[in-house]
Amino acid sequence: MILTLLPKNLAKPGFSFVAGKGDNECKGCRFYKTCVDNLKPGRIYTVSSVRNIEHPCKIHDSGVKIVEVNESQIEAAIPKKFAIEGATGVFSFSCNERCQYHDFCIPDGIKIGDKFHIITIKEKIECPLNNNILRVTLKRKD
Ligand SMILES: [Zn+2]
Repeated sequence: MILTLLPKNLAKPGFSFVAGKGDNECKGCRFYKTCVDNLKPGRIYTVSSVRNIEHPCKIHDSGVKIVEVNESQIEAAIPKKFAIEGATGVFSFSCNERCQYHDFCIPDGIKIGDKFHIITIKEKIECPLNNNILRVTLKRKD
């Protein structure tokens, strides 16, 4: 469980987001550590619960709320030969922005070289550049 801050309207259980690096205004903010430093840029997090504590924010006029988040599961596509439930692997991809499945072939939240753990195997995807790839749900591993 990780604590961070989100704008009040987004501080809802189940909300997922890609962590950013924080804006220039964020430097020097007394909540910087919790808000920005607690998360890794480019990774996806999902809100698990919302604490009823609000703080002012220079970027979000309505203020921010403390939320508990976890790193999200990722919907991805990987070669069939590596698609085994419970298996671990190292992520790579060989697709491009033109592929209609690039959200799965090149998903947010994981980069080339990241370790992952496969949670569920789903259907085959007809990626024009990759034969025999399957949709999977995976979790990044440290
Ligand atoms: Zn593709």
